[in-house]
Amino acid sequence: MSLLSDYQVIHAIGSGSFGTCYKVRHKHTNKYFVWKVIDYGDMSEEKKKLLVSEVNVLSELDSEYIVKYHDRIIDPDITTLYIIMEYCAGGDLASLIKKCKRTEQYLDERFIWKVLYQLSKALQVCHSSCILHRDIKPANVFLDENNNVKLGDFGLARILNMNESHSYTLVGTPYYMSPVRLSNPRTVNSRAEHYINVWFHRIPIHYSEYLHHIVIFMLSKNNETRPNIETLLQHPLVVKHTSFCM
Ligand code: ADP
Ligand code: MG
Repeated sequence: MSLLSDYQVIHAIGSGSFGTCYKVRHKHTNKYFVWKVIDYGDMSEEKKKLLVSEVNVLSELDSEYIVKYHDRIIDPDITTLYIIMEYCAGGDLASLIKKCKRTEQYLDERFIWKVLYQLSKALQVCHSSCILHRDIKPANVFLDENNNVKLGDFGLARILNMNESHSYTLVGTPYYMSPVRLSNPRTVNSRAEHYINVWFHRIPIHYSEYLHHIVIFMLSKNNETRPNIETLLQHPLVVKHTSFCM
C-alpha cells in the first residue's frame, strides 16, 4: 500500500463519468502513473458496486496488453478513492482516430494489424478469467509510449459466474455492441434494431483486401459464423499479418 504523499501530481488528463484522471509521479521510483480521483460521497449503492467491480477486475488481470492496476488509496475523511494504474503515454485510440480524421491521414495498416492482435490477446486473457469487459471501443483502448495496446476502463466489466453463459444486463455503447447483445429479448427497441439492420461501407480503399476481409468476418451478424477470439487469432490472414507482433 502506498500513501498519497508518495506521489506528485503532474497534471489532469481528463474527466470521465466517475472522476478525474491525473498523471502522477511516484517520488521514490520516479515512475509515472495515472490516478483516478473518485469522490464516492454522493454515490448510490449501485454506482459504488460498479466502482468496486472496476478495481477488483483490474487488479485480477495480468496481461501486457491490459492497463495494469497498481494500488488504491482511500481517504475516508473526504470520501475519496484514488485508483493508481499504469500510465499510457500514447493516450486513447479514439483521440488518435479523431486526430487522423482532422489531419486527413490514414493509420498505418501494420499498426491496425498490431492493434487487432494485441487487443485480441487482451480479450483472450479476460475471457479465460471469465471477465467480460462489455464496453470495448476506441475510447477504452489505450496506447503506451511505443504504441502498444492496453485495454482499459473496466468500469462496466463484470465477472461471469461459473453457471451462466451469458450476461443479460444491457450495458455499453450501442454503436459497438454485437448483434447478440442488441437482439437480446429484454432489450429490443427501435434503436437496437436500427443498429442490427444498418449496413456499412468497405474500409477505405487505401487498406488491403485482407484487412477488409477480416473486418467483414468479425462483423458477421450470424452468431454461428462470427469468430470468437481463438478463431480470429488462428485465422491464416491474421497469423500472416501479425507474425511480426509475436
Ligand atoms: P471515462 O469515464 O469517460 O471513460 P476515464 O475516467 O476512464 O473516463 O478517463 C478520463 C480521461 O483520462 C480520458 O481522456 C482517458 O483517455 C484518460 N485516461 C484514463 N486512463 C488512462 C491511462 N491509464 N493512461 C492515460 N490516460 C488515461
Ligand atoms: Mg473510458
